[in-house]
Amino acid sequence: MTDNELMERADRVIATTYGRFPVVLTRGQGCTLYDSNGKAFTDFVAGIAVCNLGHAHPAIAEAIADQARQLVHVSNLYYTVPQVALAEWLVEHAFADRVFFCNSGAEANEAAIKLARKYFKDRGEPGRYRIITMRGSFHGRTMATLSATGQEKIHKGFEPLVDGFDIVPFNDLDAIRQAVTDQTCAVMLEPIQGEGGVQCPGPGFLEKLRAFCDEQGLLLIFDEVQTGMGRTGKLFAYEHFGMTPDIMTLAKALANGLPMGAMLAMEAVAASFTPGSHASTFGGTPLVSAAALRVVQILEKEGVLKHCEHIGHYFKERLLALKSKHAVIREVRGLGLLLGLDLDCEGPPIVKSCMARGFLINCTQEHILRFIPPLIVQKEQIDALIACLDRIFQEMAAE
Ligand SMILES: *Cc1c(COP(=O)(O)O)cnc(C)c1O
Repeated sequence: MTDNELMERADRVIATTYGRFPVVLTRGQGCTLYDSNGKAFTDFVAGIAVCNLGHAHPAIAEAIADQARQLVHVSNLYYTVPQVALAEWLVEHAFADRVFFCNSGAEANEAAIKLARKYFKDRGEPGRYRIITMRGSFHGRTMATLSATGQEKIHKGFEPLVDGFDIVPFNDLDAIRQAVTDQTCAVMLEPIQGEGGVQCPGPGFLEKLRAFCDEQGLLLIFDEVQTGMGRTGKLFAYEHFGMTPDIMTLAKALANGLPMGAMLAMEAVAASFTPGSHASTFGGTPLVSAAALRVVQILEKEGVLKHCEHIGHYFKERLLALKSKHAVIREVRGLGLLLGLDLDCEGPPIVKSCMARGFLINCTQEHILRFIPPLIVQKEQIDALIACLDRIFQEMAAE
């Protein structure tokens, strides 16, 4: 079967929610992916910030295989060892006391939204249900999470939206202050906006927001679905800012590619979820929990976070050097290995050129190149990508 035949078959039967690149990927190893013809690509996408420890990691493959032979799934009506061990690890390493497991980022955010509402109901303030979210944010594709998302293109066609979200500009504490009413229960945001184009918080913004939420009695919800699990060089992005949220959501990299989400909260808040108030059939199943447990053991033992911090700094320096050579680059943004190049031109043709030259990169918001490689990416791979981008920008300038 040729690639073209496979693509034709796909186009007949798969929902057309993705515009796909004409490539069939068949296997991966570390930071390299291979297509059906054996062509190699250095992966600066990592399944969109998912495969933080790279592809086909032997120890993770082993953990999955071992657990698959033992127990893949039982209902959350029963206890399982991997789920407990993973929750303990998360509670020990994050600000939180309790973990709710689910299967995706959107589901983790749904849980956070439901918990925030229930918390105020339980406190005898049923009128407080509205959540302030940020323009340019991304929280998922379910009805509540797309309604929370501050992007019109994500809302379009799905109205009426779920009521209860007030969207304000990111990085604008005054706008948040003005949006608060006696119905507001929480502020929800990504510490660094990923899909929104690697938008970073301004100096002091998150610290001031924490103080403001405390003063107003509002819950602070961090969507760390993309920034969590080491992506920014720390386990969780909030650690960069010397503050903690009340609720945090995780997903993407948690199980390095197996579908897993989590919502973490402080005891006083988490207590509002009682038997029957929320649930997930597959949430925290032994198979995905065993994979995630191995992921966090590797993150801890192999110095991955330190490497991410150092190599991310190096990568950013190289991108800044590129910016000084090419006027088409407006800005370099990001932290750790969540980096963006804001361009004065269309991004997709550059993504295509990179692909033809053996590099997978991502573009968001039409003109922002996003680099989210596995955290184990090496200097030589970054140097090769920079050389490739340098040539592409030179060729564009010559046209
Ligand atoms: C990807 C993402 C989501 C949605 O996650 P899904 O697993 O696709 O539902 C939510 N929030 C942020 C910040 C994300 O990057």
